[in-house]
Amino acid sequence: MISFEYSRASDVADAMRQIASGGTAKFIAGGTNLFDLMKMDVERPGKLIDVTRLPLQDVEGTAAGGFRIGALVRNTDLAYHPEVERRYPMLSSAILAGASQQLRNMASVGGNLLQRTRCAYFYDLVTPCNKRAPGSGCSAVGGLNRGHAILGTSDSCIAVHPSDMCVALAVLDAKVHVTGAAGERVVPIGEFHRLPGDTPERDTNLGANELITSVELPPQGFSANYTYLKIRDRLSYAFALVSAAVGLELEGDRIRDARFALGGVAHKPWRDAEAEAALRGRTADDTAFGQAADILLRDAKAFGHNTFKIDLARRVLVRALSQAARGTPQSQADKKIA
Ligand code: SF4
Repeated sequence: MISFEYSRASDVADAMRQIASGGTAKFIAGGTNLFDLMKMDVERPGKLIDVTRLPLQDVEGTAAGGFRIGALVRNTDLAYHPEVERRYPMLSSAILAGASQQLRNMASVGGNLLQRTRCAYFYDLVTPCNKRAPGSGCSAVGGLNRGHAILGTSDSCIAVHPSDMCVALAVLDAKVHVTGAAGERVVPIGEFHRLPGDTPERDTNLGANELITSVELPPQGFSANYTYLKIRDRLSYAFALVSAAVGLELEGDRIRDARFALGGVAHKPWRDAEAEAALRGRTADDTAFGQAADILLRDAKAFGHNTFKIDLARRVLVRALSQAARGTPQSQADKKIA
């Protein structure tokens, strides 16, 4: 039996006070990943600080014309929020592609950003894993790596970040608002998650004892030409082998602006400015889409079992760009690929 203390924070200042009191405390909200990690003895916090009652539960408009989503908004509530469905349907779709209904009912926006990799070795205490035990080695590099990364890897770790929601947030250029002992700061979503490098134990650039308070969406939601396409082993409930979020601005059949990100291929949603620039001004067709995909995947590297992901990622991105251009976004209800 693992024993730990539990307390409830009454407001953000109280949460900051409690986390600063030392020890190995962690914030807990929905617990859909942290409880698994604790049950498997991967995470051993001495104290859980329950933040579920903090006033971070609203979705509200910003002066800039976007939206600010409280960190404690449940995934289900965000996906079905009328304004999110209307103005940011890519985000709604990505959330509904993730996990199960029960998990989405519990999971929070802040927790979704902070969920940890599902690399099986990370959860298996008897195997080396640099993310869990720095310096011990990476069992996946020469092991079973079918679901692992093909971009942004290092000799230390080839894990992927598992979130669907974050892939859409990357395309939307969302901003993560955090608060800590030094005050509040804003982290662009593209700088929030870290590639493994030599420090795979650090998943994000969140500072010690910092708390995510909200996620801000800029006004541009790509509500006309968008998609979130997710390929996985089981349609019912599985993490992405490869996914793609796409937002296009079109003038007739010409691409005025293109943004896209891949999930399931790296330890962060993978965007590539050069690949996006290659589409601007082009006719929206499979030739242009394939060229953009080739640019994005030019440095892809496989590790044996996941070699298929390079070709799959190209196909997924081309299909997703085509879905967005046609205005036929992927349905998350019947999941038949459009
Ligand atoms: Fe650990 Fe990363 Fe290697 Fe998986 S890929 S075993 S998480 S170091």
